[in-house]
Formats: sequence, C-alpha cells, structure tokens
Amino acid sequence: MSQTFVVVGGGLAAAKAVEELRSAGFDGNVVVYGEEHHLPYERPPLSKGYLLCDDELESAFVHEPDWYDDNDVDLRLGQRVTGLDTAAKVVSTEGGTQAYDKLLLATGSTPRHLAMADESGAPVAYLRTIEDSQRLKESFTAEASVAIIGAGWIGLETAAAARKAGAEVTVLESLDLPLLRVLGPEVAQVFADLHTEHGVDLRLGVEVTAVEQQGGRAVVRLKDGGSVTADLVVVGIGVTPNVELAEAAGLETDNGVLVDEHLGSSDPDVLAAGDVANAMHPVLGRRVRVEHWDTAIEQGRTAAHAMLGHAPTYDRLPYFFTDQYDLGMEYIGSVGPDGYDEVVLRGDTTASGGRTFTAFWLKGDQVLAAMHANDWDATDHLRAIAGKRVETVRLRDESLPLADLAKDLTD
Ligand SMILES: Cc1cc2nc3c(=O)[nH]c(=O)nc-3n(C[C@H](O)[C@H](O)[C@H](O)COP(=O)(O)OP(=O)(O)OC[C@H]3O[C@@H](n4cnc5c(N)ncnc54)[C@H](O)[C@@H]3O)c2cc1C
Repeated sequence: MSQTFVVVGGGLAAAKAVEELRSAGFDGNVVVYGEEHHLPYERPPLSKGYLLCDDELESAFVHEPDWYDDNDVDLRLGQRVTGLDTAAKVVSTEGGTQAYDKLLLATGSTPRHLAMADESGAPVAYLRTIEDSQRLKESFTAEASVAIIGAGWIGLETAAAARKAGAEVTVLESLDLPLLRVLGPEVAQVFADLHTEHGVDLRLGVEVTAVEQQGGRAVVRLKDGGSVTADLVVVGIGVTPNVELAEAAGLETDNGVLVDEHLGSSDPDVLAAGDVANAMHPVLGRRVRVEHWDTAIEQGRTAAHAMLGHAPTYDRLPYFFTDQYDLGMEYIGSVGPDGYDEVVLRGDTTASGGRTFTAFWLKGDQVLAAMHANDWDATDHLRAIAGKRVETVRLRDESLPLADLAKDLTD
C-alpha cells in the first residue's frame, strides 16, 4: 500500500519539502495542511518588494497555482491542524482526521505581541502575513506618521518602506543600537546611520511604558517622560515558534521543536523544519533555531529526504539577507552565545563611500560569520570563508583580494 506523508504548515518550508519529495521520486500520497487561505508564499517580499509597491503579490508564491495538482499534492488550505496523536500516527482538524506514515511539522512562527499595545484600542499592526503587508501598504502615505517599536529586521525594513512612501517614521528601540544583538556595535552603527540619514527619527535606549489611544491615533509613552504620537504603531519585537501542536502531542520542545541533525524529533516518524525547528547543528556544535528564508528552503528539502529514510545531515550555515533603501546585504554564519573577539571590516561603511564593505566576526582565528553590504560579487567568497580558520593578518590586508583568501581555503 502506498505511503502517506503529511506536512503541517503551508509556508515556505512545507512547499519546498513537498517539491523535493516529488523531485526525489516519491510516488505516495502527499497531504499539506495550511491554516492560511493563500498558496504557500515567501515572506521577504512582504517587507520589501511588495510593501514598496515594486513587485506584484504573485511573485511571492512558491509555486504556480497548478503546480500542486500537477504534482498530485493534496493541498488543504484554510485548515488548521488541531491535534496530533503520535501513537496512532494521526493528525486531526475540525473537519476530520488524517493518518500518516511520516509527518513534517513546518508550522513557522508568530509575531510576539505587545499586550499594552493590543489592549490600548490604538491602531496597532504586526507584519507576518499577506494581509498584514496589505494593511501597512495602505497606511504608508506621505501624510501618515508611523511609530515602530523594535529595531530588528522587520522594524527596520518596515521603516524603510514607510519612509519611501513619504511617511514620518519614528523607531523606538530599547538597546543602544538597532540589530545590536545580531551584528554587534561595529556593524549595527552602519544601520543606525543608514536610517537616520534617510530621515528616520531613531530613538535608541528607550523603554515603552504605555500605548494609548487618543482620537483614533496612538500615543506611545516612554520611560524617560517623552512620547510619540502616530497614526499607526507597528510592533516588531520578534517571533515565537508555533509549537502548540508538538507540545500537546508530547514531543520534546524548547524554543521550538527539538530535532537532531537529521531534523528528526523525539518521535521517529515526526520531523520539523523552518522557523519552528530548533536543530542540532553539527558544524556549530550547538542547537540553532533560525528564522530565515534560506533555512526554511534548505531544511524543507532536507526534511523530505529524511522522510524518505535517507538520513541526510543538515549542516548548512545560517544565511540571511536584507534590503533597506540602497543597502543590500547577505550574512552567512552565526556568532553564537559566546560572542566574538573582533570584527574585521574591509571596504567603506560610510554613505559617501557607497556603504560597500565586507565584515567578518572572529573568535581567535575562526570566522564565525561573514557578511557583505552592496558587494554582491563577494557572496561566494564569504561562503568559502565563513566557519573557517584564517590567517587574520591576511584577512585584515585589504590589498589581498577576498577571492584569493577564499581560494586558499577551498584548495
Ligand atoms: C515580513 C517578513 C520578511 C522577512 N524577510 C526575510 C528576509 O529578508 N530574509 C530572510 O532570510 N528571512 C526573512 N523572513 C523570514 C522568513 O520569511 C521565514 O524564516 C520563513 O517564512 C519561515 O518559513 P516556515 O515555512 O518555517 O514558516 P512560515 O512561513 O511561518 O509558514 C508556516 C505556516 O504554517 C501555518 N500553520 C501554523 N500552524 C499550523 C497548524 N496547526 N495547521 C496548519 N497550518 C499551520 C502558518 O499559518 C503559516 O502559514 C521574513 C519574514 C517576514 C514575516
């Protein structure tokens, strides 16, 4: 009898997993449950091309609408899986049950909510879905004022989009620099400068104490006694993994579904991939839960092979990208909880120099992470260098092309 593989979550990791199952020749039943009503889509355009009105929504969908039928994928949209019985190997929805041989949890994550904002009655928005992005798009006008709580990736990309639309933008961040935890002060400063130069009122080291509604607008109160009045408050303070189903089923969870380097959970027939997976990373030597596009794609693919019994190892270094105003960047690697010793910068981080540079986070002579801004030819070299031990003198020597350094490491 043919096997049935079920995927819970109709996002990017799910779509890539089922694509890989069919590419690898799996001819059993493939069922995907997605609680949203849209075909599986990519989220990066929601804070970039689509929000900026540069791209059509269609470009965000992972596959053409016909792809699922053409590939015999039973895509059950608008259906939330509410129960998982790992002993009986069955998932349940409001409408019924579905048995599985292998199950992939690709349930993604949900924006962390700020209760004081939600309960204020003021206009408050988050950004995760197509509908969220559409709402922001309509709100971002030249007449609007927007207060953004949180200067992480979502907050900053949203700020850039709102500024492009001509809105007045204030960003409120509790740390001393945007993206400080991810990038450290050396590179975080570049993003602070980028936004202030584009007219964002960037308020750093501030604490939001209350959000109030006044005449249909929002008033955000700060601990230092200041306040910001805006037509809309956008909250971007991180996400939490959607583990409810896994938890209720008794799977091991801790900041995500705990999976091994083959993406297998504590149940031999259940795997997890994408934002929800807290995976043991064999190269980094620790667990990582990565909330980025590339990991959703590549873990989705790896999970497909794991479902097929190939026991693949997921050892790809984390990768992410962002586009804000005229700055495009890619980052490969992970600094980790022990931090870094120094950052080596090559190129020019200033606006007048085009903000074209590369940065390397080092622990001793090991490159924990590497990034570039506006230097797209560097990507392959960064991939070769990230995670490796280098001669730091050579890395610092800007007269030595990165290509040579990378070549020596791969030879
Ligand atoms: C606005 C935005 C911009 C981003 N930009 C970038 C970027 O520039 N670069 C980058 O690297 N990353 C970016 N990301 C992150 C990237 O989009 C995510 O890492 C990626 O979407 C994760 O994919 P996923 O499939 O794991 O989860 P998701 O995309 O969250 O998909 C999970 C799906 O599962 C559904 N679901 C959950 N529970 C159930 C259930 N019980 N039953 C049925 N369905 C369920 C959810 O509704 C959701 O549709 C961005 C994210 C956002 C929100």
